[in-house]
Amino acid sequence: MAETAKILNPHRIVVVPDREAGCSLVDSCPADQVRAYKKLHPDDAIVSYINTSAEVKAESDIICTSRNAVQVVNSIPAGKPILFLPDINLGNYVKKQTGRENMKIWQGACVVHATFSARRLLSARAQHPAALLAAHPECPPEILKSADFIGSTSAIIDWCIHHDADEFIIMTESGVSHSLQQRAPHKKYHFVPNEYCNCSECPYMKRNTLEKLRDCLRSLEPRVELSPEIMERARIPIERMLALR
Ligand code: SF4
Repeated sequence: MAETAKILNPHRIVVVPDREAGCSLVDSCPADQVRAYKKLHPDDAIVSYINTSAEVKAESDIICTSRNAVQVVNSIPAGKPILFLPDINLGNYVKKQTGRENMKIWQGACVVHATFSARRLLSARAQHPAALLAAHPECPPEILKSADFIGSTSAIIDWCIHHDADEFIIMTESGVSHSLQQRAPHKKYHFVPNEYCNCSECPYMKRNTLEKLRDCLRSLEPRVELSPEIMERARIPIERMLALR
């Protein structure tokens, strides 16, 4: 995200609270592997999720977010082979929604969403039988198939606050609870822990603490620095996505 901010604002200073606050999706999709794939499949359109490195964006034809991924894939001419990267669950969801048979999907995963399990969901449903289920499309198919709503983080927030119901099971990173509590504090939100621990927090995002945020704003360090060539190439697929609005 910080790299995308820099790509779109190349002449401004962009700082991050913690340079190590990465993302498992970025780690699962190295740029040299994407370049190797392109050599073997030069006709494929590369659709990259926003959670990729600047270098991978520079190799891409168009970028998408979890909110617009279906629209972005539908914007590609029918019959054109597609590689969707890097999230396997989001890719499978988009493939199902668009019916694009000629779409290959990278095998990357989000460490939070991919570890949600049907077992933990069943337990949450037993504890909160009246609650509706809202899930992010990075969740595994066994979660998505029983969801009352599937959408991006911001779409989940909108859906919960505008829905007549007042109790929800939420399957996405639990940081979203702050926005939900702020915007509709009278409703109940139950966050399901992932299969391997008792939380649904992203260990990468949690490296960004309030103290580090204060420090980086004071010192304007550490800065996001990218080569002008990478920024120029990565800006093109981002602007293609923005032009679809
Ligand atoms: S929750 Fe963490 S690992 Fe998952 S996509 Fe977001 S930053 Fe990446």
